[in-house]
Amino acid sequence: MTMERTLILAKPDAVQRGLLGRILSRFEEKGLKLVGLKLMHMTDELAAVHYEAHKERPFYPGLVRFMTSSPIVAIALEGIGAIDIARNLMGATFGSNANPGTIRGDFGVSNSFNLVHGSDSPEAAERELGLFFGTNELLEWDMDGCKWIYDPVEELGQ
Ligand code: UDP
Ligand code: MG
Repeated sequence: MTMERTLILAKPDAVQRGLLGRILSRFEEKGLKLVGLKLMHMTDELAAVHYEAHKERPFYPGLVRFMTSSPIVAIALEGIGAIDIARNLMGATFGSNANPGTIRGDFGVSNSFNLVHGSDSPEAAERELGLFFGTNELLEWDMDGCKWIYDPVEELGQ
């Protein structure tokens, strides 16, 4: 397992429903380190690039309409195995069948208004972080709690 960074988006439904803090808490409580945070409007242009893999899918027009309808929050997280850890915290794509204990399972029922986006591979994470954050907007900082989140000898190689 290597140190990774991943992009999470709190989607318009999460921000409108006042769930941002609770969603951010799930990632913080797990031990993922916050390295970038931005409240923003997703433009049509950014949505087209971010979701280009889905552009032929029937749900694409509705997805772009939803994602550009109201502010989102872009969240950059760091941790060992952060990409899969974040995806597991999010739960399955559809709120209707996401497991309890996950963000999508606990906070929603919709299959399209599903609260969060998370990068699904190291390649996607690198690409997506670059779309939402400038390099100087992703911080390098020492989180003191890391000493207790990871085994310094076994996991951090110190
Ligand atoms: N989506 C949808 N209907 C579908 C499948 C996906 O509205 O049948 C939306 C949903 O918001 C989802 C996003 O499109 O989060 C991207 O789909 P993907 O398959 O990449 O799911 P994710 O990676 O977000 O779990
Ligand atoms: Mg996806």
